[in-house]
Amino acid sequence: MKQAAILNPEAAKAISETVATQGINKGICVYCGDPADLVCDHCDAQVTRRNEAAKAREQREKERQRLGWFADKVPDLYLATDEMLVPHWARTIAETWNPQDRYGVTISGPSNSWKTRAAIKILERAFLAGKQIEFRQAGDLRREMNRMAREGGDSELLRELCAVPVLLVDDMGNQAFTEASEEFLLALFEGRINRFLPTITTTQFPSDEFLAKFSNRRIGMAVAKRIGPEYNWMINTATGNITEPQPPKSPHQ
Ligand SMILES: [Zn+2]
Repeated sequence: MKQAAILNPEAAKAISETVATQGINKGICVYCGDPADLVCDHCDAQVTRRNEAAKAREQREKERQRLGWFADKVPDLYLATDEMLVPHWARTIAETWNPQDRYGVTISGPSNSWKTRAAIKILERAFLAGKQIEFRQAGDLRREMNRMAREGGDSELLRELCAVPVLLVDDMGNQAFTEASEEFLLALFEGRINRFLPTITTTQFPSDEFLAKFSNRRIGMAVAKRIGPEYNWMINTATGNITEPQPPKSPHQ
């Protein structure tokens, strides 16, 4: 006997009426009345189709809701609903990077080379894979950190950001670091590496200029190392081969 999954109320009503007037075991389809064992193949296919369509609608609705939550986390400016606004190499990177593993992504290159949009595409991939995400503009993070430090809550901020499954720190080095913000960033990246959590970063500065933003070279090197090729996929939008991101070379593999 065929078992049709029945979800819609019309079908349920039809069945109960049929059961009431004819009984169910009379060798006819409960939906159309053709000769069949309970449900004929035609009606069974139709019910299955309807159920699948309902499931797909529900799925789309959930997806919209989820993307709404994503939209709450990143600036409107970067929410490229139009796929045309995302450079093709960003999709390549987003597909190459695995949101389930520990490696982050570092995108460097000149300003206006779509770094942030690419990074957000990657973040979106993590989000759609069910990961919690956070986005911080490096400048905002510095302000937030300073404010928390004044109020004595900076270690709480550090703990929070160290635990976020996927974190994006955008536009690193856009403002000179303070000693406190340097220490904070180092502790943040170190803490995330120790927890096997990936960090995505963007910067418009090539490594030498990036290091020059720090109060001393030692801490600059320490921060750069933790978002460098040992732990992150490296993408330089200034070079021609951005569709082949460099895989991480973690010493702990
Ligand atoms: Zn039928």
